[in-house]
Amino acid sequence: MSTAASFGGAADDVLVVDGLEVRYGARVALRDVSLRLAAGRVLAVVGESGSGKSTLALAIARLLPPGGAVAAGSIAVGGVDVLALRGADLRRARAGLVGFIPQDAMAALTPVVRAGRQVAEVFEVRDGLSRREADRRAVEALARVGMRAPDVVARRFPHELSGGMRQRVMIAMALAARPRLLVADEPTTALDVTVQAEILELARGLVRDEGATLVWVTHDMGVVAELADEVAVVYGGRLAEHGPAAALFASPLHPYTRAVLETVRAGRDAPPKTPFHAIAGQPPTGALPGGCPFRPRCPVALPPCATEPPAPRALAGARRVACHLVGGDV
Ligand code: SF4
Repeated sequence: MSTAASFGGAADDVLVVDGLEVRYGARVALRDVSLRLAAGRVLAVVGESGSGKSTLALAIARLLPPGGAVAAGSIAVGGVDVLALRGADLRRARAGLVGFIPQDAMAALTPVVRAGRQVAEVFEVRDGLSRREADRRAVEALARVGMRAPDVVARRFPHELSGGMRQRVMIAMALAARPRLLVADEPTTALDVTVQAEILELARGLVRDEGATLVWVTHDMGVVAELADEVAVVYGGRLAEHGPAAALFASPLHPYTRAVLETVRAGRDAPPKTPFHAIAGQPPTGALPGGCPFRPRCPVALPPCATEPPAPRALAGARRVACHLVGGDV
């Protein structure tokens, strides 16, 4: 894939998460999560509702609710430990490091400010541009994300735009800061199939033509098959499996990944909006069970699974799996 100056194009890992733990009060939402992502790659983070996948996205973007969540471990983006940033350093560094695309663009946009102005403000803050020049660059930015009649759209308020157009405005804002990494938290979930396909094509174009590095959170295996180079499967706040998308689709190793893929059409030709199937039983909520979090639903669990949480194990082919049955624990 090509790399462009706007995304740095470094050969190094853009994202390195090491031993990440996130707590909301006494509740552990993520535990012992480690992963890496090289420049120009797309990582899909998948899991059921409540698995911790959105918490991971928010932690990487340093958008966890202040005072409501406590994060430990480290998250390096472009070599900067974003968890260690505070105050003005955080505000200065964050925009250029991580662009965030939320699920609900309507809630994220300021309702009383025209779309173009919201994009222009990023140019004013980041590049010190005049209002006039920033407005001009905002129209260019809206055109860059495939907006038809961008000069017209720039003058509209968010409520005058469709869901897909609002999501494009959010992407334009994220790109305006020229971040090293883009994190998208289920950005197409609320959109219809046609608009979802357009946004996915836009994302593919950003990677193909501009060397963007993406973390794309989803519960939709069709999106994963369309977009991802790598997949991280999150279950019960832990990383169950992480590896190249093609290998993971061809031979899922973790029993949870296998169960998920058995219920959807495996392979990269899975259609958009293929649901992330509900497997028998419920994902853990509240306090995690002792041992492996998947044990209550696992068809092949053994006695040690009840007491010993499996640690992620590195395997051949850049794969990592956390299961006692994979790699020879039991
Ligand atoms: Fe199933 Fe045990 Fe593997 Fe967990 S560690 S997925 S319970 S076999």
